[in-house]
Amino acid sequence: MRVLICGGGIAGLTLAYWLRRRGIEPVVVERAPHGRLGGYGIDFFGTGHDIAARMGIVDRLTPHRLPVDSVDFVDASGRAGARLTTALLDKIIRGPHLPLMHTTLEGVLLEAIEAEVEVRFGETITAVRDLDTAVEVDLARGGTQRFDLLVGADGIHSRTRELVFGPEARFARHLGCRLASYPVTDRYGWGRVRAHYTEPGRQSVVYPTGEAGTLMALFLFRSAHGGRVPRAERLDLLRSTFHGMGWITASLLADAPASESVFMDTMAQIVLPAWHRGRVALVGDACGCMTMVSAQGVSMAMAGAYVLAEALEEEAGHVRAFARYQGRMRAEVTRRQRNALLFARTLVPGTRAGLVAQGLANRLIMREAFAPLLRRQFGARSILPPRTADPGKD
Ligand SMILES: Cc1cc2nc3c(=O)[nH]c(=O)nc-3n(C[C@H](O)[C@H](O)[C@H](O)COP(=O)(O)OP(=O)(O)OC[C@H]3O[C@@H](n4cnc5c(N)ncnc54)[C@H](O)[C@@H]3O)c2cc1C
Repeated sequence: MRVLICGGGIAGLTLAYWLRRRGIEPVVVERAPHGRLGGYGIDFFGTGHDIAARMGIVDRLTPHRLPVDSVDFVDASGRAGARLTTALLDKIIRGPHLPLMHTTLEGVLLEAIEAEVEVRFGETITAVRDLDTAVEVDLARGGTQRFDLLVGADGIHSRTRELVFGPEARFARHLGCRLASYPVTDRYGWGRVRAHYTEPGRQSVVYPTGEAGTLMALFLFRSAHGGRVPRAERLDLLRSTFHGMGWITASLLADAPASESVFMDTMAQIVLPAWHRGRVALVGDACGCMTMVSAQGVSMAMAGAYVLAEALEEEAGHVRAFARYQGRMRAEVTRRQRNALLFARTLVPGTRAGLVAQGLANRLIMREAFAPLLRRQFGARSILPPRTADPGKD
């Protein structure tokens, strides 16, 4: 069986790995011209870490652990009002936890498959026709080709979803917030801290990348509308939204790269009634984006890929396999989306009163007594049954 995977991100590369291990031939098309650069930090734990361990890649990830010992919620002078330490985080997660750059994980996943899987960079699909016995796709550069199945692993703004299921507006749930991020020079002698500073309607965040002299700046701000901001307009939007903000925000904005290099997206969840149609299925953010506030997007993308590959090997035919995959994953994703929705409402308070309430709540909740509650909120336990005989086990 040959499966075309559109999107060489976390979900697509993990799926390629597990399909290959299960005797199915994947081909990956990735829009970006090469492995992606830049990116943002992620907390990697629970199901995602479990799958990485089954792939035998944890040792390659660990040296890239971001040097962060605490998450501090600071005032304008930089003093921490509330602090989530690694020690408390360990008690919440009760398992391995790796803060990483998203691109580090992508890079290691790519290394794990590139000798065995065809990955076509700078390529995408432009049309899809389900022929009943095969799926025919038009590729931007590679002409028309047939595969047994097509899997859209092309993220929150999935082209596969648009071509097969309909326009994004039908499935996107905008959470009233935008985010932006870029690397900046460390002119502060920054320590092993991820710091958040919030004013009504806007929040700036800084954390170390692990690369000497480089920090990541992240900006979150309230926005009534979703939709894409053209690259050329991103920096102007950030500068006007964060104008006059305290702490080191002005200096972070002064150090911004060219507007075209700023990562900016709307914070939205994707909710689809069905994750498959005919010979096409979706995996990861394309069908179940939960947003960054869930801290579970990578885990669910990897879990979806793992479960889909397993179902395709074990079930008789793709119809049963897709149904089993959706049956196993959708409830997990829906629950995390619900949790993230509640959390997102309080992420960037719109008023001074909201800000005071957030400060009090942060100070109250960041204690050991609340570890079980936070563990449930972030789904720290792996959703996979314990390993027995994984085909990819080292
Ligand atoms: C700022 C931020 C912080 C986050 N923090 C966390 C965290 O702490 N923990 C966590 O678990 N998750 C976190 N997430 C969420 C997580 O990054 C995503 O849920 C996860 O990356 C989803 O993986 P994916 O493979 O589905 O999508 P992506 O990682 O977005 O990959 C999609 C891939 O498809 C490619 N592509 C797109 N369109 C096309 C096309 N038309 N043709 C071909 N290729 C295409 C893209 O170039 C990309 O390589 C965070 C997200 C953000 C934005």
